[in-house]
Amino acid sequence: MNDLIKHAVCGAGISRRRFVVAASVATAAVWLAPRRLWAANGGIVQGIVDAAALNKITVQPLRGNISALLGSGGNIAVLTGPDGKLLIDAGIAVSQPGITKALAGLSDDPIRNLVNTHWHFDHTDGNNWLHHAGASITAHENTRKRLLIRHRVEGWRFTFPAAPKGALPTTIFKKSLVLDLNGENILLDYYEPAHTDSDISVYFSNADVLHVADTWWNGVYPFIDYSSGGNIDGSIDAANANIARVTDNTIIIPGHGPIGNKAQLIDFRDMLVAIREKVSTLKESGKSLEATIAAKPTADFDERWGQWVTTPDAFTALVYQGV
Ligand SMILES: [Zn+2]
Repeated sequence: MNDLIKHAVCGAGISRRRFVVAASVATAAVWLAPRRLWAANGGIVQGIVDAAALNKITVQPLRGNISALLGSGGNIAVLTGPDGKLLIDAGIAVSQPGITKALAGLSDDPIRNLVNTHWHFDHTDGNNWLHHAGASITAHENTRKRLLIRHRVEGWRFTFPAAPKGALPTTIFKKSLVLDLNGENILLDYYEPAHTDSDISVYFSNADVLHVADTWWNGVYPFIDYSSGGNIDGSIDAANANIARVTDNTIIIPGHGPIGNKAQLIDFRDMLVAIREKVSTLKESGKSLEATIAAKPTADFDERWGQWVTTPDAFTALVYQGV
């Protein structure tokens, strides 16, 4: 393990520079059109970083002492109180000034804890600065494993360097962990492989607020990271598990997209199931990937769901890979 950590530290200098922004994108928006995101130098990953650099961080109070910060990669949740701030996900490092300002606007409590919902850069790129600002980092053991080493995400056509030492989770778990902070009982639970093999949910049981990580993209086709152990059937299982544990009163924080509710979660699950069935029927009939894409199995859903990072063709390919 020492060698791996050393490797991570050595890689840090070069690595983080990749995420520094060439602020050449003309328009700021949380939801950039997919073509625009992909067109950035460095593809989708640099496109997401560029978008974060230009975005304002929006603060959305949820319930009790829990708020959401939107506008820097994956959706961030913040719990404030006398035990110090707890953040769920770290966003993109370039958003540090905006996140710092937003956090200061919530309360004077120091930053004490950070939980990563999975290893992806748009949820962990801010780990290093948050750690140096005072946060201990907790995550599933696979998040730490994947951050420790250089890792290629084929679906994004991008190779991520090892994370710097300060970015690594120091408290890890396999199945579940309970945190008691600021009067909240916070349940961290591992999903079986779904979006990746490192996804966890975070449930604030008193406030009835659930962060479901990237097992839910509210209103858009999800990315499924097969390079990190994810798959379509696991994604459907995770969606079903999410539906089973919430009520109409639960505030649900998706990894991406607006804060939502149970009815929207059901819509998302139904979309996944319908497209999976169409794609698997085509594949079983012997159709190649190209022929399956040409058959447009997502057509009924594209207007509503196909407007962001994962295009209809890309989503068809992700489903095809797993059926
Ligand atoms: Zn993700």
